[in-house]
Amino acid sequence: YFVSFEGGDGAGKSTQARLLGAWLEEITGREVVLTREPGGTALGREIRRLVQHGEHVDPRAEALLYAADRAHHVATLVRPALERGAVVITDRYLDSSVAYQAGGRELAEADVEGLSLWGTGGLLPDVTVLLDVDPAVAASRRTGDPDRLERAGDEFHRRTRDAFLRRAAAAPGRWLVLDGSGAVDDVQSQIRVDLASRLGL
Ligand code: C5P
Repeated sequence: YFVSFEGGDGAGKSTQARLLGAWLEEITGREVVLTREPGGTALGREIRRLVQHGEHVDPRAEALLYAADRAHHVATLVRPALERGAVVITDRYLDSSVAYQAGGRELAEADVEGLSLWGTGGLLPDVTVLLDVDPAVAASRRTGDPDRLERAGDEFHRRTRDAFLRRAAAAPGRWLVLDGSGAVDDVQSQIRVDLASRLGL
């Protein structure tokens, strides 16, 4: 199985991914690979550093860099893991690109999605969990210095959130939308109940 977590910053994706991984390992007995984008590979960590902590990156260049991270991630880590029967859980995948680079940066959605579909050979998750949070709530959860993108502004975050919600509504078979502002344990049990029925576990 291939599961992705999506949502704004501070939605609790990495915590929920980790908890889900532990549970899936226990009930399926399979290897579970937890990974992330950008930065699931050594090349990806370089790309992450460049786009998130380097100089300003032009939106099209940014879209290409995220797509490059994803292509390499899928080719060298995700596909090999799925092929050996592992469960792969990724913190962000192609829907983040559509939400941030198309929704947020206002590039054409078909272009941004097309880059990732080309880059990954069309690999889509079996299930995508959207942890939806109001950007203002998410901002209050964050600690430490905001990075460049987190300072991008309310409008940017609102467009990003809307893009996630629109995509989820358009493909309900792949998406599970949850209120990410709920208690960690409650959110996790909703994910487990849904995945158990969706994946027949
Ligand atoms: O969740 P993570 O820490 O990996 O995200 C880091 C930042 O990268 C976030 O602030 C998010 O806004 C941004 N991002 C982006 N486009 C992507 C993926 C992440 O702008 N495709």
